[in-house]
Amino acid sequence: MYRLRSDVRLERDPAAAAGGGGWRAVDPALARAIKLGDSDARLLQALAGGATPATLARQLRQTPEEIHTRLAALARLYLLQGKRAQLRVALQAERTGFAKQLLQPAQAEPLEWLTGADPPRHACQGTGTCCGATFLGPLTDADAARVRKLTFGTRLGPAQHGQAAAVLRLGVGEAIGPEQILESVHRDGREYLGMARGQDEHCLAQGQDLLCDIHREHGSAAKPVACRLFPLRFYRSPLGIHVSLLLACDGYQRARAAAGAWPEREPEIRALLQEGAPAPRLTLPFELTPGLPLSSVEWWQLRSEFQAAEPQQADAHAWLLAIVERAHLEGQRRSAALAEGSEIDILPRLEGLAQALAQPQTTLAPQRTAECADQLDQRSHDLLRRGARHDAERLADLRLAVLALQDGLALAPRGNFSATAEALRQLSDVVANDVQAHIALGHLDAGLRTLTRRLLVVEALACSLARRAGRAEVAAPDTTRALHVVYRSEPDIAAL
Ligand code: SF4
Repeated sequence: MYRLRSDVRLERDPAAAAGGGGWRAVDPALARAIKLGDSDARLLQALAGGATPATLARQLRQTPEEIHTRLAALARLYLLQGKRAQLRVALQAERTGFAKQLLQPAQAEPLEWLTGADPPRHACQGTGTCCGATFLGPLTDADAARVRKLTFGTRLGPAQHGQAAAVLRLGVGEAIGPEQILESVHRDGREYLGMARGQDEHCLAQGQDLLCDIHREHGSAAKPVACRLFPLRFYRSPLGIHVSLLLACDGYQRARAAAGAWPEREPEIRALLQEGAPAPRLTLPFELTPGLPLSSVEWWQLRSEFQAAEPQQADAHAWLLAIVERAHLEGQRRSAALAEGSEIDILPRLEGLAQALAQPQTTLAPQRTAECADQLDQRSHDLLRRGARHDAERLADLRLAVLALQDGLALAPRGNFSATAEALRQLSDVVANDVQAHIALGHLDAGLRTLTRRLLVVEALACSLARRAGRAEVAAPDTTRALHVVYRSEPDIAAL
């Protein structure tokens, strides 16, 4: 017998009532109101007094399979009476407490560093390749005001100090004023300011030597927060601020070797947070998949088990496989414990990941591979025509990665390539870096699917780059380049 939660009210939706239809389920315990169509409302009405799948199928004239699917959808929304909903309601207090914690300034929160056998780390080596991203921002209001007042660009001649507003001189007689040094993009109805880019898509403040003129002439602190932030990445959770990396630095091999211990960066990180560096918050409660919630304490415990599974010798595949298997087991255990009835079996969507890790060529359908490769080729040529060489090369390498994945290019024992210890460590960094907070940004199963695909593409591209250089051994420059391409191409990879 399935029942609607007794504290959920079914009522006409006032917003839709004028149009003559529409219902909503008002759920005070979870502080929400869910819009419903007429057929969902009929189902919930039938459930208000309790119903079996057989009576529902008769009443609603649907097949048993359709009824099971609809009951599972209601369970995922925590609308059915049972342990699942009880747990979710209990976890609402955690969500409310975290919302209050978010009112505290980010810079005052504890910092949580990357951990592990040899955690990923970074010390800027000034390669300047970060200054050629598709968007160089967003700038804070203070950034925009400061940059507009600066004078810089001495690489092209003596500075014109004393001018009312900053100019960047591109050549004799050519000057860019304070307005043109910034560009704006519109996204989701909002305007964001970034540093303007030239025809080659690089920042106008970047010299021929790839160094930043603002940094050279005014010091690091004068640069926009987004520039100083790269490649750091922050997330807020009940534990404080989690610090990780966007593994997209073209000089990662050198930057990793030169870096000190993470806590040495604490003053710099607190200053960045104080100046408005973004720190997206993780969504509470954590969920293995919609309908399988877990408390923060349970997630930290599971996460420490994921971390403890790190092999002694860097092996990203073995590590990720152990994590996927552990998550699958946890999903099965929770699903059985929380089921409202035998018809409902909600599991994390992890199927296929173990097979993809064993046989990378099963990741993409052949037809999809051909389409993606053609699109990337076309876009790469378009960018090259516009003079955006770096982005054109990035997409050309991403095309190579897609083809390499399809060909099953991988490290032994799945493929024919060996790798240096440094290259293996960089591949392992993908797991170490992303498993701690990034996969918890949404549902954990979706995070693990993204992480698996990312790792497979990085590995396939690294093997492909080694093959292009006539080697059967992947070296650290190959993995550094592959990381740069993949982390810079996240929307393209998500679309594969
Ligand atoms: S302002 Fe400087 S650091 Fe920032 S993108 Fe431009 S050149 Fe790079």
